[in-house]
Amino acid sequence: MSQKRDFYEVLGVARTASADEIKKAYRALAMKYHPDRNPNNKEAEDKFKEAAEAYEALSDAKKRQQYDQFGHAGMNGGFGAGGGQGGMNMDDIFEQFGDMFGDLFGGGQGRRTRKKTGPEPKRGHDLYKELQISLKDAYLGTQVEVAYNHFVTCETCKGKGAAKGTSPVVCTQCNGSGQVNFRQGFFMYTQPCNVCGGEGFTIPSPCPDCKGQCRKQLYEKFTLNIPKGVYDEIEIKATGRGDAGIFGGATGDMIFKIHVKADKQFKRDGDDLTCSVMLTYPQLVLGSQIEIENIDATKETLKIPKGCPVGEKIVIPGKGFFKVRGNTRGNLVVTTKCDIPTRLSSEAKKALTEYSELIGTKPGSDGAITSFFKKFLG
Ligand SMILES: [Zn+2]
Ligand SMILES: [Zn+2]
Repeated sequence: MSQKRDFYEVLGVARTASADEIKKAYRALAMKYHPDRNPNNKEAEDKFKEAAEAYEALSDAKKRQQYDQFGHAGMNGGFGAGGGQGGMNMDDIFEQFGDMFGDLFGGGQGRRTRKKTGPEPKRGHDLYKELQISLKDAYLGTQVEVAYNHFVTCETCKGKGAAKGTSPVVCTQCNGSGQVNFRQGFFMYTQPCNVCGGEGFTIPSPCPDCKGQCRKQLYEKFTLNIPKGVYDEIEIKATGRGDAGIFGGATGDMIFKIHVKADKQFKRDGDDLTCSVMLTYPQLVLGSQIEIENIDATKETLKIPKGCPVGEKIVIPGKGFFKVRGNTRGNLVVTTKCDIPTRLSSEAKKALTEYSELIGTKPGSDGAITSFFKKFLG
């Protein structure tokens, strides 16, 4: 067993080096001896491990202090305890420090070089669907029947993709790394292995049922509950209704985007439900009590106060939308409008003319400005 080298010497830094200097030094060494750049080079691998072990100790303030005081003997319980060769294995290194240099190899490839022990679980895709509902359905809540195709785990192989009694095997082309290196001039390039498609594994005897795909398509139906109070553009997630994962990965979700169609009569304003009511001039002037129908066809009593202007907002508390979360509700807000009749019976016309004269206005078809307007025009 060779004598363990001093950690500072390994990283090539002074004993007084700052944490940043230590990190930089380690990074440079990890790059230099990275297995992607030195395939099948045992010496480089040892250097790579040695640097990681030194960095592991010196990057931790407490461990560094212990090392400074007691040397390798102070590292008991740490990696390479007892000064043996052991040290960190490649998996440990990528697990702990992979992030530090992974990106320099383009999208974390540094991590993927670690030997796989089995096909990696992959989560199934989320599925997206848009749904249109009416404003009334948004107000009351509703249920929608959803019919769709998605991938489900193949029952025959239980999602393993291999025929009964067989298993996937490590790809002999890339030894399970999923990528192959090749040199061109001074440069070393990495590309996905074409034998296993970058998976690191091949399935010599695919499951006859799913042809090694681990999943099968299935047409399914389910009922989606849309809670009352949902607003336009809201997203509702149906957990586990997406595509099944492969090699034991989780199933994806189904995400619904809800579009609330405009209603002819009612609108939404925050959690309030709004509409307008057509009233006659006498109803506005004298005040009245009328019955109106809410969007869900329930009856509400609307009290019009005496001398109510057009455009007045009359609030019926607690009859608006339910909040999606919580139990409180918005209000029903009714805006008053005045109904101007275009046809009148002769009696009504007579009465109205008399009323008009009574308040000093002179209606007529001669187009003359009446005294009522003269007052304002001066
Ligand atoms: Zn199968
Ligand atoms: Zn391969």
